[in-house]
Amino acid sequence: MVDCFFDPEHLILRRQIQAWVEKNLLPESVREAEVEEATRGLASQLGREGFIAYVAPKKFGGAREKVQARDLCLLREELAFGSALADTTFALQALGSYPITLVGSDGQKSRYLPPIVRGEVLAAFALTEPQAGSDIASLETRAVKRGKQYCLTGIKCFISNAGLAGTYVVFASTDPEKKAKGVSAFIVEANRPGLVLKEKTRLISPHPIGVLAFEECIVPEANLLGQEGEGLKIAFSTLEMLRSTVGAAAVGLARRALDEALRYSRKRRQFGKELAEFQGIQFKLADMATELEAARLLVYQAAWLHDHGRGGLKQKSSMAKLYATEAAQRIVDQALQIHGGIGVVEGTPVERLYRDVRSLRIYEGTSEIQKLVIARELLKETTGGKREA
Ligand SMILES: Cc1cc2nc3c(=O)[nH]c(=O)nc-3n(C[C@H](O)[C@H](O)[C@H](O)COP(=O)(O)OP(=O)(O)OC[C@H]3O[C@@H](n4cnc5c(N)ncnc54)[C@H](O)[C@@H]3O)c2cc1C
Repeated sequence: MVDCFFDPEHLILRRQIQAWVEKNLLPESVREAEVEEATRGLASQLGREGFIAYVAPKKFGGAREKVQARDLCLLREELAFGSALADTTFALQALGSYPITLVGSDGQKSRYLPPIVRGEVLAAFALTEPQAGSDIASLETRAVKRGKQYCLTGIKCFISNAGLAGTYVVFASTDPEKKAKGVSAFIVEANRPGLVLKEKTRLISPHPIGVLAFEECIVPEANLLGQEGEGLKIAFSTLEMLRSTVGAAAVGLARRALDEALRYSRKRRQFGKELAEFQGIQFKLADMATELEAARLLVYQAAWLHDHGRGGLKQKSSMAKLYATEAAQRIVDQALQIHGGIGVVEGTPVERLYRDVRSLRIYEGTSEIQKLVIARELLKETTGGKREA
């Protein structure tokens, strides 16, 4: 029973977001047709309702003293159940602001977090580059100090909210010789001259994303986040915190797929019976429900470990993301199979879910990279290192 990972406030939050999703996102969200407009609309709705407040600390407009992974997971699960775009919108406010929450000065937090929490300003996290995907330490964007300013030059691709965000957290090398230890993080406001949207990239599922160029983009030294050289540490800590929440979004999509499959298998009749009466279909439903439950347990276990400051988080959050996103893909695929031909008709819920679920196995660390993390933690024990567990 996954509720054992929650406090009473989490259960209240779950009821609130479920009621909001039912009223505002179900049945199908037609707003996804216009991705950018829909994203802005969703951000201001989620901000007004107080849901984005869970991405920041109370002192800076947030809901709680400290940001909790379980809140983020609950919100992402329920939003993804209703609309993948609503989940993405919420998730990016968390991803783009968490580095500021983590290491920002009080001045930076007071300036940048409240408008993100209100959904008035969209946030973005710019790490990936054309030659630096999984191998992020090889990034080539440079930040050269000139007096009291930094000059940023380089290309970032696959940046969610590119061209829409008001606040970008950008990772660039201040000392290429130091490689991974020479990367620093910067806050770059959208109106800085030299920050150029090069391309809007169309994906298989609605998602605002594109390519950014930094063409001698000047930012004041006050926009450095943390210390020089701490950039990758900040990026990895952010991704580690949010990893279980990607698993939670996968759980939300998979839960919706199972719901659709159950409903359809009771409605559709073949050979004189409901589909649900065939053992072949029942076995599929049983496998889907079991994998879904296992995924939820891993996700909320990892979130609980984060919130209680327990060890083993790195490995457990990678396991949660890996298993939940892979299981969600299988569950959605089986739900589509149960729908037969209707399942591949454009605009049906399972067709949409089939496209929506795919990116989760790629972004914020692919499944292969999660396996490397899990194995590295396991092998630390055999090489005499201290295993987190
Ligand atoms: C929907 C979406 C949203 C995104 N949003 C953002 C964003 O907001 N900000 C941002 O910075 N980035 C974002 N990204 C980029 C994302 O983080 C990268 O796509 C991801 O890290 C993988 O990098 P890559 O695409 O370059 O693949 P590559 O690193 O080139 O990998 C290609 C394949 O090789 C495998 N591979 C790579 N290295 C190894 C290895 N050592 N062992 C085994 N297999 C390996 C990978 O798992 C993958 O299957 C987004 C991507 C998507 C799809």
